[in-house]
Amino acid sequence: MRMTGNTADAIAGFLRMYRYATPRVGVLFLLYLGVILLPLGLAVWQTPQTDGSFFTEVGKNCALLGLALVFLQFVLAARCRLIERPVGIDILYSFHRFMGVLAGALLLCHPLFLAMGDQGAAFLFTLSQPVVIWLGKIALALLVFIVLLSVFQRILIGFRKWRFVHNVAVVLVLLLGVAHSMFVGGDLAEGGALLGLWLLLMLTALGAYAWHKVIRRWWRRLHAWSVEEVVSVAPDVYRVKLTPPSGREVAAYLPGQAQFLTLLRKRGLPREEHPFTISSSPTEAGCLVSTIKKSGGFTATIGQTRPGDRAIVEAPYGRFSYLMHPATSRLFFIAGGIGVTPLRSMLRYMADIRLDVEVVLLHFVRTSEDLVFRGEFEEIASRKRPRLQYVPVVSRSEEGWRGETGHVDSGLLRKHIGEGGEGQVYLCGPPGMMKASLRALREVGIPRTRIHYEYFSL
Ligand SMILES: Cc1cc2nc3c(=O)[nH]c(=O)nc-3n(C[C@H](O)[C@H](O)[C@H](O)COP(=O)(O)OP(=O)(O)OC[C@H]3O[C@@H](n4cnc5c(N)ncnc54)[C@H](O)[C@@H]3O)c2cc1C
Repeated sequence: MRMTGNTADAIAGFLRMYRYATPRVGVLFLLYLGVILLPLGLAVWQTPQTDGSFFTEVGKNCALLGLALVFLQFVLAARCRLIERPVGIDILYSFHRFMGVLAGALLLCHPLFLAMGDQGAAFLFTLSQPVVIWLGKIALALLVFIVLLSVFQRILIGFRKWRFVHNVAVVLVLLLGVAHSMFVGGDLAEGGALLGLWLLLMLTALGAYAWHKVIRRWWRRLHAWSVEEVVSVAPDVYRVKLTPPSGREVAAYLPGQAQFLTLLRKRGLPREEHPFTISSSPTEAGCLVSTIKKSGGFTATIGQTRPGDRAIVEAPYGRFSYLMHPATSRLFFIAGGIGVTPLRSMLRYMADIRLDVEVVLLHFVRTSEDLVFRGEFEEIASRKRPRLQYVPVVSRSEEGWRGETGHVDSGLLRKHIGEGGEGQVYLCGPPGMMKASLRALREVGIPRTRIHYEYFSL
Protein backbone atom coordinates (compact mmCIF):
# COMPACT_ATOMS: atom_id res chain seq x y z
CA MET A 1 0.00 0.00 0.00
CA ARG A 2 1.36 3.49 -0.85
CA MET A 3 0.78 6.38 1.45
CA THR A 4 -1.76 8.93 0.25
CA GLY A 5 -0.90 12.65 0.31
CA ASN A 6 -3.30 13.12 3.23
CA THR A 7 -1.63 10.47 5.37
CA ALA A 8 1.84 11.79 4.57
CA ASP A 9 0.79 15.34 5.50
CA ALA A 10 -0.89 14.18 8.70
CA ILE A 11 2.22 12.24 9.77
CA ALA A 12 4.55 15.12 8.90
CA GLY A 13 2.40 17.62 10.84
CA PHE A 14 2.06 15.27 13.77
CA LEU A 15 5.81 14.63 13.86
CA ARG A 16 6.48 18.37 13.87
CA MET A 17 4.36 18.63 17.02
CA TYR A 18 6.53 16.03 18.75
CA ARG A 19 9.75 17.66 17.54
CA TYR A 20 8.46 20.99 18.84
CA ALA A 21 7.50 19.36 22.18
CA THR A 22 10.82 17.58 22.82
CA PRO A 23 12.93 20.56 23.99
CA ARG A 24 10.16 21.51 26.41
CA VAL A 25 11.08 18.77 28.93
CA GLY A 26 13.41 21.13 30.80
CA VAL A 27 10.81 23.92 30.87
CA LEU A 28 8.13 21.53 32.14
CA PHE A 29 10.44 20.24 34.86
CA LEU A 30 11.28 23.78 36.01
CA LEU A 31 7.58 24.62 36.06
CA TYR A 32 6.91 21.49 38.11
CA LEU A 33 9.66 22.41 40.56
CA GLY A 34 8.35 25.98 40.74
CA VAL A 35 4.82 24.85 41.62
CA ILE A 36 6.15 22.55 44.36
CA LEU A 37 8.34 25.24 45.90
CA LEU A 38 5.90 28.15 45.53
CA PRO A 39 3.75 27.32 48.63
CA LEU A 40 6.92 27.06 50.72
CA GLY A 41 8.20 30.38 49.35
CA LEU A 42 4.85 32.06 50.08
CA ALA A 43 4.79 30.66 53.62
CA VAL A 44 8.25 32.09 54.31
CA TRP A 45 7.30 35.39 52.72
CA GLN A 46 4.03 35.66 54.68
CA THR A 47 5.52 34.80 58.10
CA PRO A 48 9.29 35.38 58.00
CA GLN A 49 9.54 35.17 61.82
CA THR A 50 8.91 31.72 63.18
CA ASP A 51 7.94 31.00 66.73
CA GLY A 52 8.46 27.22 66.64
CA SER A 53 11.62 25.17 67.09
CA PHE A 54 13.82 24.19 64.14
CA PHE A 55 12.28 20.70 63.97
CA THR A 56 8.75 22.09 64.07
CA GLU A 57 9.56 24.34 61.10
CA VAL A 58 11.09 21.44 59.15
CA GLY A 59 8.00 19.37 59.93
CA LYS A 60 5.67 22.10 58.61
CA ASN A 61 7.76 22.53 55.45
CA CYS A 62 7.70 18.77 54.80
CA ALA A 63 3.90 18.95 54.87
CA LEU A 64 3.77 21.88 52.45
CA LEU A 65 6.14 20.16 50.00
CA GLY A 66 4.50 16.74 50.38
CA LEU A 67 0.96 18.02 49.78
CA ALA A 68 2.10 20.15 46.84
CA LEU A 69 3.52 16.94 45.34
CA VAL A 70 0.21 15.16 45.97
CA PHE A 71 -1.67 17.92 44.10
CA LEU A 72 0.62 17.55 41.11
CA GLN A 73 0.28 13.75 41.11
CA PHE A 74 -3.28 14.26 39.83
CA VAL A 75 -2.04 16.41 36.97
CA LEU A 76 0.70 13.92 36.02
CA ALA A 77 -1.75 11.01 35.99
CA ALA A 78 -4.28 12.82 33.78
CA ARG A 79 -2.29 11.97 30.60
CA CYS A 80 -2.32 15.58 29.51
CA ARG A 81 -0.84 15.79 25.97
CA LEU A 82 1.23 18.83 26.83
CA ILE A 83 3.11 16.81 29.44
CA GLU A 84 3.01 13.39 27.79
CA ARG A 85 4.31 14.36 24.36
CA PRO A 86 7.77 15.56 25.37
CA VAL A 87 8.48 12.66 27.76
CA GLY A 88 6.42 9.65 26.67
CA ILE A 89 3.80 7.76 28.65
CA ASP A 90 6.16 5.19 30.23
CA ILE A 91 8.52 7.84 31.63
CA LEU A 92 5.58 9.95 32.78
CA TYR A 93 4.11 7.05 34.76
CA SER A 94 7.53 6.08 36.21
CA PHE A 95 7.97 9.69 37.35
CA HIS A 96 4.45 9.66 38.83
CA ARG A 97 5.30 6.49 40.78
CA PHE A 98 8.58 7.92 42.05
CA MET A 99 7.00 11.21 43.12
CA GLY A 100 4.22 9.30 44.92
CA VAL A 101 6.85 7.57 47.06
CA LEU A 102 8.63 10.90 47.67
CA ALA A 103 5.35 12.59 48.68
CA GLY A 104 4.61 9.71 51.09
CA ALA A 105 8.09 9.99 52.63
CA LEU A 106 7.83 13.80 53.06
CA LEU A 107 4.39 13.59 54.64
CA LEU A 108 5.56 10.80 56.94
CA CYS A 109 8.38 13.11 58.09
CA HIS A 110 5.81 15.80 58.96
CA PRO A 111 4.52 14.29 62.26
CA LEU A 112 7.93 12.83 63.09
CA PHE A 113 9.61 16.25 62.96
CA LEU A 114 6.71 17.86 64.85
CA ALA A 115 7.17 15.21 67.55
CA MET A 116 10.90 15.95 67.66
CA GLY A 117 10.07 19.66 67.98
CA ASP A 118 7.50 21.46 70.12
CA GLN A 119 4.82 18.76 70.14
CA GLY A 120 6.84 16.05 71.88
CA ALA A 121 6.74 12.28 71.23
CA ALA A 122 3.38 11.86 73.03
CA PHE A 123 1.75 13.72 70.12
CA LEU A 124 2.26 10.67 67.93
CA PHE A 125 0.38 8.30 70.20
CA THR A 126 -2.22 10.38 72.05
CA LEU A 127 -5.75 9.41 71.08
CA SER A 128 -7.52 12.44 72.51
CA GLN A 129 -6.73 14.94 69.79
CA PRO A 130 -8.90 17.38 67.85
CA VAL A 131 -10.77 16.02 64.82
CA VAL A 132 -8.63 18.05 62.39
CA ILE A 133 -5.48 16.32 63.66
CA TRP A 134 -7.17 12.98 63.13
CA LEU A 135 -8.08 13.97 59.58
CA GLY A 136 -4.37 14.48 58.90
CA LYS A 137 -3.46 11.18 60.55
CA ILE A 138 -6.04 9.27 58.50
CA ALA A 139 -4.86 10.97 55.28
CA LEU A 140 -1.27 10.02 56.07
CA ALA A 141 -2.15 6.43 56.94
CA LEU A 142 -4.10 6.16 53.67
CA LEU A 143 -1.22 7.62 51.67
CA VAL A 144 1.33 5.23 53.16
CA PHE A 145 -1.12 2.40 52.47
CA ILE A 146 -1.46 3.41 48.80
CA VAL A 147 2.29 3.79 48.34
CA LEU A 148 2.98 0.34 49.84
CA LEU A 149 0.13 -1.21 47.86
CA SER A 150 1.45 0.39 44.66
CA VAL A 151 4.98 -0.85 45.23
CA PHE A 152 3.87 -4.40 46.06
CA GLN A 153 0.75 -4.43 43.86
CA ARG A 154 1.74 -7.50 41.86
CA ILE A 155 2.16 -9.74 44.91
CA LEU A 156 -0.54 -8.24 47.11
CA ILE A 157 -3.80 -7.75 45.17
CA GLY A 158 -3.27 -7.62 41.41
CA PHE A 159 -3.64 -4.66 39.09
CA ARG A 160 -7.43 -4.44 38.83
CA LYS A 161 -8.19 -4.29 42.56
CA TRP A 162 -5.15 -2.06 43.13
CA ARG A 163 -6.39 0.47 40.61
CA PHE A 164 -9.84 0.69 42.21
CA VAL A 165 -8.42 1.14 45.73
CA HIS A 166 -5.84 3.64 44.45
CA ASN A 167 -8.42 5.77 42.60
CA VAL A 168 -10.74 6.07 45.60
CA ALA A 169 -8.00 6.48 48.21
CA VAL A 170 -6.11 9.26 46.43
CA VAL A 171 -9.18 11.53 46.41
CA LEU A 172 -9.71 10.88 50.14
CA VAL A 173 -6.05 11.68 50.82
CA LEU A 174 -6.39 14.94 48.94
CA LEU A 175 -9.59 16.08 50.66
CA LEU A 176 -8.55 15.01 54.17
CA GLY A 177 -5.05 16.45 53.70
CA VAL A 178 -6.39 19.81 52.53
CA ALA A 179 -8.95 20.01 55.37
CA HIS A 180 -6.22 19.19 57.89
CA SER A 181 -3.75 21.70 56.47
CA MET A 182 -6.30 24.53 56.29
CA PHE A 183 -7.47 24.23 59.88
CA VAL A 184 -4.20 23.26 61.55
CA GLY A 185 -1.48 24.78 59.40
CA GLY A 186 -0.70 28.20 60.91
CA ASP A 187 0.52 29.65 57.60
CA LEU A 188 -2.66 28.61 55.78
CA ALA A 189 -5.00 29.61 58.59
CA GLU A 190 -3.71 33.16 58.17
CA GLY A 191 -5.29 33.23 54.71
CA GLY A 192 -3.75 35.52 52.09
CA ALA A 193 -1.90 34.46 48.96
CA LEU A 194 -0.86 31.06 50.35
CA LEU A 195 -4.43 30.02 51.06
CA GLY A 196 -5.46 31.21 47.59
CA LEU A 197 -2.68 29.18 45.97
CA TRP A 198 -3.54 26.14 48.07
CA LEU A 199 -7.18 26.21 47.00
CA LEU A 200 -6.15 26.75 43.38
CA LEU A 201 -3.84 23.72 43.51
CA MET A 202 -6.57 21.61 45.09
CA LEU A 203 -9.11 22.64 42.44
CA THR A 204 -6.57 21.97 39.67
CA ALA A 205 -5.93 18.50 41.07
CA LEU A 206 -9.64 17.68 41.37
CA GLY A 207 -10.28 19.19 37.93
CA ALA A 208 -7.56 17.04 36.36
CA TYR A 209 -9.04 13.97 38.08
CA ALA A 210 -12.59 14.73 36.96
CA TRP A 211 -11.40 15.44 33.40
CA HIS A 212 -9.38 12.24 33.17
CA LYS A 213 -11.68 9.82 34.96
CA VAL A 214 -15.13 11.16 34.16
CA ILE A 215 -15.52 13.88 31.52
CA ARG A 216 -13.10 12.62 28.85
CA ARG A 217 -14.25 9.02 29.28
CA TRP A 218 -17.91 10.04 29.08
CA TRP A 219 -17.18 11.98 25.86
CA ARG A 220 -15.26 9.09 24.34
CA ARG A 221 -18.00 6.66 25.33
CA LEU A 222 -20.45 8.84 23.39
CA HIS A 223 -18.15 8.48 20.37
CA ALA A 224 -17.28 4.83 20.88
CA TRP A 225 -15.46 2.86 18.18
CA SER A 226 -16.56 -0.52 16.86
CA VAL A 227 -14.75 -3.82 16.87
CA GLU A 228 -14.70 -4.91 13.24
CA GLU A 229 -12.70 -8.10 13.41
CA VAL A 230 -11.12 -10.43 16.00
CA VAL A 231 -8.78 -13.01 14.49
CA SER A 232 -6.54 -15.58 16.17
CA VAL A 233 -3.04 -15.12 14.73
CA ALA A 234 -0.95 -17.38 16.99
CA PRO A 235 -1.57 -19.46 20.12
CA ASP A 236 -3.21 -17.09 22.67
CA VAL A 237 -2.70 -14.08 20.39
CA TYR A 238 -5.54 -12.13 18.76
CA ARG A 239 -5.62 -9.34 16.23
CA VAL A 240 -8.35 -6.83 17.14
CA LYS A 241 -9.34 -4.39 14.42
CA LEU A 242 -11.23 -1.24 15.42
CA THR A 243 -13.02 1.33 13.28
CA PRO A 244 -14.03 4.86 14.30
CA PRO A 245 -17.69 5.97 14.57
CA SER A 246 -19.21 7.12 11.29
CA GLY A 247 -18.20 10.61 10.23
CA ARG A 248 -14.96 10.46 12.22
CA GLU A 249 -11.46 9.75 10.99
CA VAL A 250 -8.60 7.96 12.66
CA ALA A 251 -6.42 10.67 14.23
CA ALA A 252 -2.80 10.86 13.04
CA TYR A 253 -0.34 8.63 14.86
CA LEU A 254 3.26 7.54 14.43
CA PRO A 255 4.16 3.91 13.72
CA GLY A 256 5.06 2.34 17.08
CA GLN A 257 2.74 4.43 19.27
CA ALA A 258 0.18 2.96 21.67
CA GLN A 259 -3.48 3.35 22.59
CA PHE A 260 -5.52 2.93 25.78
CA LEU A 261 -8.34 0.58 24.95
CA THR A 262 -11.54 -0.14 26.88
CA LEU A 263 -13.67 -2.86 25.36
CA LEU A 264 -17.31 -2.17 26.27
CA ARG A 265 -18.30 -5.80 26.00
CA LYS A 266 -21.43 -7.21 27.56
CA ARG A 267 -21.68 -10.92 28.45
CA GLY A 268 -20.08 -10.29 31.87
CA LEU A 269 -16.65 -9.62 30.35
CA PRO A 270 -14.27 -7.14 32.04
CA ARG A 271 -14.46 -3.56 30.79
CA GLU A 272 -11.37 -1.95 32.23
CA GLU A 273 -8.88 0.13 30.30
CA HIS A 274 -5.54 -1.38 29.14
CA PRO A 275 -2.64 -0.03 27.09
CA PHE A 276 -1.78 -1.75 23.80
CA THR A 277 0.48 -0.83 20.90
CA ILE A 278 -1.24 0.19 17.70
CA SER A 279 0.23 -2.65 15.65
CA SER A 280 -1.21 -1.31 12.40
CA SER A 281 0.63 1.31 10.39
CA PRO A 282 -0.67 4.81 9.60
CA THR A 283 -0.63 3.67 5.96
CA GLU A 284 -3.41 1.17 6.75
CA ALA A 285 -6.10 3.81 6.66
CA GLY A 286 -9.47 3.86 8.38
CA CYS A 287 -8.74 1.58 11.32
CA LEU A 288 -6.55 0.86 14.33
CA VAL A 289 -5.35 -2.65 15.04
CA SER A 290 -3.87 -4.07 18.23
CA THR A 291 -2.36 -7.53 18.48
CA ILE A 292 -2.94 -8.84 21.97
CA LYS A 293 -1.47 -11.81 23.80
CA LYS A 294 -2.97 -13.51 26.82
CA SER A 295 -1.02 -12.58 29.93
CA GLY A 296 -3.51 -12.29 32.80
CA GLY A 297 -7.20 -11.97 33.68
CA PHE A 298 -8.21 -9.35 31.11
CA THR A 299 -6.13 -10.43 28.12
CA ALA A 300 -7.34 -14.02 28.64
CA THR A 301 -10.80 -12.79 27.53
CA ILE A 302 -9.67 -11.05 24.31
CA GLY A 303 -10.72 -14.03 22.19
CA GLN A 304 -14.30 -13.56 23.46
CA THR A 305 -14.52 -10.08 21.92
CA ARG A 306 -17.01 -10.02 19.05
CA PRO A 307 -17.38 -7.87 15.92
CA GLY A 308 -19.89 -5.14 16.74
CA ASP A 309 -18.69 -4.73 20.35
CA ARG A 310 -18.02 -1.12 21.18
CA ALA A 311 -14.73 0.31 22.41
CA ILE A 312 -13.34 3.46 23.96
CA VAL A 313 -10.11 4.39 22.21
CA GLU A 314 -7.67 6.93 23.58
CA ALA A 315 -4.72 7.40 21.28
CA PRO A 316 -1.96 7.96 20.40
CA TYR A 317 0.56 7.87 23.23
CA GLY A 318 4.28 7.20 23.54
CA ARG A 319 7.49 8.14 21.77
CA PHE A 320 8.62 4.68 20.68
CA SER A 321 8.91 5.33 16.96
CA TYR A 322 11.94 5.47 14.69
CA LEU A 323 10.52 8.73 13.29
CA MET A 324 11.15 10.38 16.63
CA HIS A 325 14.92 9.90 16.53
CA PRO A 326 17.76 11.05 14.28
CA ALA A 327 17.54 9.79 10.70
CA THR A 328 19.81 6.83 10.09
CA SER A 329 20.29 4.31 7.31
CA ARG A 330 20.63 1.33 9.71
CA LEU A 331 18.19 0.17 12.35
CA PHE A 332 18.29 -2.79 14.72
CA PHE A 333 14.99 -4.05 16.02
CA ILE A 334 15.08 -6.48 18.96
CA ALA A 335 11.78 -7.92 20.18
CA GLY A 336 10.77 -10.46 22.80
CA GLY A 337 7.44 -12.27 22.25
CA ILE A 338 4.50 -9.90 21.75
CA GLY A 339 6.91 -6.95 22.15
CA VAL A 340 7.22 -7.19 18.37
CA THR A 341 3.97 -5.23 17.82
CA PRO A 342 5.46 -1.69 17.66
CA LEU A 343 8.22 -3.00 15.39
CA ARG A 344 5.61 -4.54 13.07
CA SER A 345 3.89 -1.16 12.85
CA MET A 346 7.20 0.51 11.92
CA LEU A 347 8.18 -2.19 9.40
CA ARG A 348 4.76 -2.11 7.72
CA TYR A 349 5.07 1.65 7.45
CA MET A 350 8.58 1.44 5.99
CA ALA A 351 7.47 -1.19 3.48
CA ASP A 352 4.43 0.87 2.44
CA ILE A 353 6.45 4.03 1.88
CA ARG A 354 9.35 2.00 0.37
CA LEU A 355 11.88 3.49 2.72
CA ASP A 356 15.48 2.95 1.71
CA VAL A 357 16.86 1.75 5.02
CA GLU A 358 18.63 -1.35 6.34
CA VAL A 359 16.83 -3.10 9.20
CA VAL A 360 17.86 -6.15 11.21
CA LEU A 361 14.95 -7.64 13.18
CA LEU A 362 15.78 -10.18 15.89
CA HIS A 363 12.58 -11.72 17.27
CA PHE A 364 13.00 -13.89 20.37
CA VAL A 365 10.18 -16.33 21.13
CA ARG A 366 9.69 -19.65 22.90
CA THR A 367 8.63 -21.75 19.91
CA SER A 368 8.21 -21.08 16.19
CA GLU A 369 4.41 -21.09 16.74
CA ASP A 370 4.84 -17.83 18.69
CA LEU A 371 6.31 -16.01 15.68
CA VAL A 372 3.48 -13.55 15.15
CA PHE A 373 3.77 -11.73 11.78
CA ARG A 374 6.30 -14.30 10.47
CA GLY A 375 4.75 -14.51 6.99
CA GLU A 376 4.55 -10.73 6.71
CA PHE A 377 8.14 -10.20 7.85
CA GLU A 378 9.36 -12.83 5.36
CA GLU A 379 7.44 -11.06 2.61
CA ILE A 380 8.93 -7.67 3.55
CA ALA A 381 12.40 -9.27 3.72
CA SER A 382 11.99 -10.33 0.07
CA ARG A 383 11.57 -6.68 -1.00
CA LYS A 384 14.25 -4.18 -1.90
CA ARG A 385 12.96 -1.45 0.39
CA PRO A 386 13.41 -1.67 3.30
CA ARG A 387 16.38 -4.07 3.24
CA LEU A 388 15.12 -6.29 6.06
CA GLN A 389 17.13 -9.10 7.59
CA TYR A 390 14.60 -11.11 9.60
CA VAL A 391 16.13 -13.31 12.31
CA PRO A 392 13.61 -15.32 14.34
CA VAL A 393 15.16 -16.97 17.42
CA VAL A 394 13.41 -19.76 19.34
CA SER A 395 14.42 -20.66 22.88
CA ARG A 396 13.25 -24.28 22.70
CA SER A 397 14.91 -26.32 19.98
CA GLU A 398 12.38 -27.97 17.66
CA GLU A 399 12.55 -30.65 15.07
CA GLY A 400 13.04 -29.17 11.62
CA TRP A 401 13.96 -25.70 12.92
CA ARG A 402 16.90 -24.35 10.92
CA GLY A 403 17.06 -20.84 12.37
CA GLU A 404 18.75 -19.43 15.45
CA THR A 405 18.15 -20.99 18.86
CA GLY A 406 18.76 -19.57 22.33
CA HIS A 407 18.26 -16.43 24.37
CA VAL A 408 19.48 -12.93 23.79
CA ASP A 409 23.22 -12.66 24.39
CA SER A 410 26.22 -10.74 23.12
CA GLY A 411 27.33 -13.58 20.80
CA LEU A 412 24.07 -13.51 18.88
CA LEU A 413 24.01 -9.70 18.74
CA ARG A 414 27.63 -9.53 17.57
CA LYS A 415 26.79 -11.98 14.79
CA HIS A 416 23.82 -10.02 13.46
CA ILE A 417 24.54 -6.44 14.48
CA GLY A 418 28.32 -6.43 14.57
CA GLU A 419 30.68 -4.92 17.14
CA GLY A 420 29.43 -1.41 18.05
CA GLY A 421 27.15 -1.61 14.96
CA GLU A 422 26.35 1.83 13.56
CA GLY A 423 22.66 2.74 13.74
CA GLN A 424 19.81 3.09 16.22
CA VAL A 425 18.49 0.17 18.29
CA TYR A 426 14.78 -0.29 19.13
CA LEU A 427 14.05 -2.78 21.88
CA CYS A 428 10.74 -4.07 23.23
CA GLY A 429 9.84 -7.15 25.23
CA PRO A 430 9.26 -8.59 28.72
CA PRO A 431 11.37 -7.11 31.57
CA GLY A 432 13.82 -10.06 31.88
CA MET A 433 14.54 -10.09 28.16
CA MET A 434 14.95 -6.29 28.08
CA LYS A 435 17.47 -6.44 30.92
CA ALA A 436 19.46 -9.18 29.17
CA SER A 437 19.33 -7.23 25.88
CA LEU A 438 20.58 -4.01 27.45
CA ARG A 439 23.48 -5.93 29.04
CA ALA A 440 24.32 -7.69 25.77
CA LEU A 441 24.11 -4.42 23.80
CA ARG A 442 26.54 -2.83 26.25
CA GLU A 443 28.90 -5.78 25.76
CA VAL A 444 28.91 -5.31 22.00
CA GLY A 445 29.69 -1.62 22.45
CA ILE A 446 26.38 0.07 21.57
CA PRO A 447 26.08 3.28 23.62
CA ARG A 448 22.85 3.86 25.60
CA THR A 449 22.17 7.04 23.60
CA ARG A 450 21.49 4.87 20.54
CA ILE A 451 19.15 2.47 22.34
CA HIS A 452 15.42 3.28 22.48
CA TYR A 453 13.11 0.97 24.37
CA GLU A 454 9.58 0.55 25.62
CA TYR A 455 8.37 -1.52 28.55
CA PHE A 456 5.01 -3.26 28.18
CA SER A 457 4.12 -2.28 31.72
CA LEU A 458 3.23 1.10 33.21
C1 LIG B 1 2.85 0.93 26.07
C2 LIG B 1 2.35 -0.50 26.17
C3 LIG B 1 2.08 -1.22 25.03
C4 LIG B 1 1.62 -2.53 25.11
N1 LIG B 1 1.35 -3.21 23.96
C5 LIG B 1 0.90 -4.47 24.03
C6 LIG B 1 0.59 -5.20 22.83
O1 LIG B 1 0.72 -4.70 21.72
N2 LIG B 1 0.14 -6.47 22.95
C7 LIG B 1 -0.03 -7.08 24.18
O2 LIG B 1 -0.45 -8.22 24.22
N3 LIG B 1 0.27 -6.42 25.33
C8 LIG B 1 0.72 -5.14 25.29
N4 LIG B 1 0.99 -4.46 26.45
C9 LIG B 1 0.84 -5.16 27.72
C10 LIG B 1 -0.60 -5.16 28.17
O3 LIG B 1 -1.04 -3.86 28.49
C11 LIG B 1 -0.73 -6.05 29.42
O4 LIG B 1 -0.33 -7.34 29.09
C12 LIG B 1 -2.15 -6.12 29.91
O5 LIG B 1 -2.58 -4.86 30.35
C13 LIG B 1 -2.19 -7.12 31.05
O6 LIG B 1 -3.50 -7.19 31.56
P1 LIG B 1 -4.08 -8.55 32.19
O7 LIG B 1 -5.22 -8.20 33.06
O8 LIG B 1 -4.35 -9.52 31.14
O9 LIG B 1 -2.86 -9.11 33.01
P2 LIG B 1 -2.51 -9.03 34.55
O10 LIG B 1 -1.80 -10.29 34.89
O11 LIG B 1 -3.69 -8.64 35.37
O12 LIG B 1 -1.48 -7.83 34.58
C14 LIG B 1 -0.13 -8.02 34.27
C15 LIG B 1 0.57 -6.67 34.40
O13 LIG B 1 0.14 -5.83 33.32
C16 LIG B 1 -0.01 -4.50 33.80
N5 LIG B 1 -1.44 -4.13 33.68
C17 LIG B 1 -2.50 -4.87 33.94
N6 LIG B 1 -3.64 -4.20 33.73
C18 LIG B 1 -3.26 -2.98 33.33
C19 LIG B 1 -3.98 -1.80 32.98
N7 LIG B 1 -5.29 -1.78 33.00
N8 LIG B 1 -3.28 -0.70 32.64
C20 LIG B 1 -1.93 -0.70 32.64
N9 LIG B 1 -1.19 -1.79 32.95
C21 LIG B 1 -1.85 -2.91 33.29
C22 LIG B 1 0.42 -4.48 35.24
O14 LIG B 1 1.79 -4.14 35.31
C23 LIG B 1 0.23 -5.91 35.68
O15 LIG B 1 1.05 -6.26 36.75
C24 LIG B 1 1.43 -3.14 26.39
C25 LIG B 1 1.70 -2.41 27.54
C26 LIG B 1 2.14 -1.10 27.44
C27 LIG B 1 2.41 -0.33 28.68
